[in-house]
Amino acid sequence: MTKKKMFILGQEIIPGKGYQLNMDVAKLHTHTPVQVPVFVERAIVDGPVLLLMAGVHGDEINGVETVRKSINTGAFDNLTAGTVIAIPLLNVYGFINYSRDLPDGKDINRSFPGSLKGSLASRVANTLTQHILPLVDLGVDFHTGGKSIHNVPQLRIDPTMEEALPLAQKFGARLIIKSSLIPRSLRKECNRRKIPMLVFEGGESLRLDEESIAEGRAGILNLLFAYGMIEGHEPIPFENKIIVDNHWIRASFAGVFESYKKPNDFVERGDLLGQISTPYDKTVKKVKARKKGVIFGINNNPVVNQGDALYHIGF
Ligand SMILES: [Zn+2]
Repeated sequence: MTKKKMFILGQEIIPGKGYQLNMDVAKLHTHTPVQVPVFVERAIVDGPVLLLMAGVHGDEINGVETVRKSINTGAFDNLTAGTVIAIPLLNVYGFINYSRDLPDGKDINRSFPGSLKGSLASRVANTLTQHILPLVDLGVDFHTGGKSIHNVPQLRIDPTMEEALPLAQKFGARLIIKSSLIPRSLRKECNRRKIPMLVFEGGESLRLDEESIAEGRAGILNLLFAYGMIEGHEPIPFENKIIVDNHWIRASFAGVFESYKKPNDFVERGDLLGQISTPYDKTVKKVKARKKGVIFGINNNPVVNQGDALYHIGF
């Protein structure tokens, strides 16, 4: 049987071989080309094409480490079927600048499908849309919480896509959150193309979180095993908690925020979660839970302004 020919970025991908390719994005002011490395491993036997993507936001390093460690420990070296396309860091500019965005302040994950003549973010998105997405059957996009917001390792799934929940369960996430699609995001573009794309969130930006990285790596192996792409892996069975609704508890007062609760804690309506005090007087304001639920995101910043997000609680 002749195998289907596969080309990525002009390179023919031969069954049984691995490649490191470079995706040209743009040039710097110094005429230095900016290239995004793309790692490809193809098994002898045909099977699904899995995209593992990280660093769409350049300051979200846990995902970058999750994909890098998976590559470096040889997770894709002995595929029994299918192809893995791994991009450990898409937003090279943001990574250099410790920033979520590109130098012009634009967010790649709000720029899909992108265009050849648009903003830099739109051009990066376009490169991915044109060269990689047409080949992909399923994928995981690795993110973290924002600045000082720690997210419990979790998978975000598209509630309108039937394949998303079984896929998340195969990944083995302990926490699965049904969250609607953000316009012009990678997930939205994948939804349009009928590619089930999971979004993994773990930890916070610019901070390594071993638990999130470990859970992400385990999830990748679980997916590969579930799709027959590797052998000899024993997935650890988790009970999935599925979050169907969520809300943020925000600071009513500005001051020093002290939390009594930790990520993953269950809370009841009216429970005391933390306090906000001011440095100048004896004012201490209580922060209480509005509903029963689980804390899956928490603000680690000790100083908060009115309206700042403190706890992300799911039901
Ligand atoms: Zn992100």
